[in-house]
Amino acid sequence: MVTRVVIVGGGSAGWMAAAALARFLGQRADIRLVESEEIGTVGVGEATIPQLRLFNARLGLDEDEFVRETAGTFKLGIEFVGWGAPDERYIHAFGTIGRDLGLIPFHHYWLRHRAEGGGASLWDFSACAQAARLNRFGRWEERPGRLPSGLNHAFHFDASLYAAYLRRYAEARGVRRTGGKVKDVVLRGEDGFVEAVVLEGDERIGGDLFLDCSGFRGLVIEQALETGYDDWSRWLPCDRALAVPCAAGGELTPYTRASARDAGWQWRIPLQHRTGNGHVYCSAFTSEDEAARVLLANLDGPALADPLPLRFVAGKRRKAWNRNCVALGLASGFMEPLESTSIHLVQSAISRLLQFFPASSIIAEEVDEYNRQTDAEWLSIRDFLAFHYWANGRDGEFWRACRDMAVPESLERRVALFRANGRIFRHSEELFAEVGWLQVMTGQGVTPTGYHPLADQLSPGQLAEFLGLARKHVDHVVGQLPSHADFIARHCAIPEPRAAASAGAGP
Ligand SMILES: Cc1cc2nc3c(=O)[nH]c(=O)nc-3n(C[C@H](O)[C@H](O)[C@H](O)COP(=O)(O)OP(=O)(O)OC[C@H]3O[C@@H](n4cnc5c(N)ncnc54)[C@H](O)[C@@H]3O)c2cc1C
Repeated sequence: MVTRVVIVGGGSAGWMAAAALARFLGQRADIRLVESEEIGTVGVGEATIPQLRLFNARLGLDEDEFVRETAGTFKLGIEFVGWGAPDERYIHAFGTIGRDLGLIPFHHYWLRHRAEGGGASLWDFSACAQAARLNRFGRWEERPGRLPSGLNHAFHFDASLYAAYLRRYAEARGVRRTGGKVKDVVLRGEDGFVEAVVLEGDERIGGDLFLDCSGFRGLVIEQALETGYDDWSRWLPCDRALAVPCAAGGELTPYTRASARDAGWQWRIPLQHRTGNGHVYCSAFTSEDEAARVLLANLDGPALADPLPLRFVAGKRRKAWNRNCVALGLASGFMEPLESTSIHLVQSAISRLLQFFPASSIIAEEVDEYNRQTDAEWLSIRDFLAFHYWANGRDGEFWRACRDMAVPESLERRVALFRANGRIFRHSEELFAEVGWLQVMTGQGVTPTGYHPLADQLSPGQLAEFLGLARKHVDHVVGQLPSHADFIARHCAIPEPRAAASAGAGP
């Protein structure tokens, strides 16, 4: 019987797992978490995607309380600056774009409009994109019988406050935490399953199932079980990051910004008490000193700490679940934060683990299926991220090398399909929906030569009316939203003293 679950690591991954397991398996399992304050957490990971709302809702968290507790803000998408061409920008907005009609998605009508010389932008039909442009945010009460608003949102938050918030949640539901450093992992002789972890000072914590949330080092999944790693750096070439918080300045924008730089890109994540920034770059094309200079030259306000250097290799463990160990978070692999997918991958791994939680003992077929589903999800995100680099329109050695890379065949096929007649299909385990691919492909200059023939069924007058109504609806929705800053002030502002106290915290 699997009843003793040991979570190794107390970063976002460890505490997300502890909270979810306590919520859903608290009656059945004895859950322990070990973390080392001396080692600490990676401390970054501040931008999310809308799926996190589902995770929080399943835990029963109140959204306003969650935003207040994590000094968070709201996020309507990611603005990409200088990717398609140095002076261009586009947004990958959440929510929907326009309204599907008949059998075909909305964008085919827009493609026809454009083919006939129309000037409306794809993003004119996105409520999230327009609200982001105007720095507005609000919740919309969707009602049956009324047109959906098209809005959706995620969050920016302080990752260490999120982990602390979930720790309180998990401990209140029976999770036992031990502070200490794991010095050894004991494997069972007969089958190599993990029997226990041993802490400095020789405390031994035995378990039936171990969740490796120990970060990049992969203490159990790699150092003890030698699972192996698939290196994807030929498609995701960045291997370093520098992260630095700065004083908040200007309007509180409800979106993440990802600005292309000479050998990578820079993120900007507005929180209530500070702005998170980081420069993700490829060490073969620039030095750490130069990367730091570029980062610090492009901040909203004074830096609040020295840049924190991080190193990584894009890729994933060969098996996310090996024997009786399931790796979550950075221990399971890493794809850079360009589309804010890492915390989501923790969340989806936890959901999958709950689906596959052993009925009694660990069954090979179930482990294989868990790993198959994990691989499919990771591969689809890998392709999505690689596309941003491959389809760039920038000058410079790094960006030319990205354009010249041989991308996975699955990505080539997808882009060719879109280029022909604007068709996009989503397979069941893929994270990004058609609307995500549509915006990123359009934003980075992939132009379909045709569109679905059914879009021709509307007369020119009907097409104009259909698009006009869609646009009017977006204007109507966005027109009713308050400013992002006002919304936060009214619903979920942090108390002033904490804002001041945590302003100097690391990223
Ligand atoms: C540059 C960068 C930017 C990122 N940005 C984003 C983003 O915008 N959005 C997003 O979704 N994700 C982002 N991420 C990813 C995100 O930070 C992580 O997915 C998330 O924080 C989970 O981290 P973790 O808990 O796996 O690891 P960590 O935070 O590293 O935690 C590891 C834990 O294991 C413990 N530990 C390690 N060794 C031992 C030991 N021997 N004994 C006891 N305990 C031990 C540590 O003390 C710590 O508690 C980013 C990551 C990087 C590197």
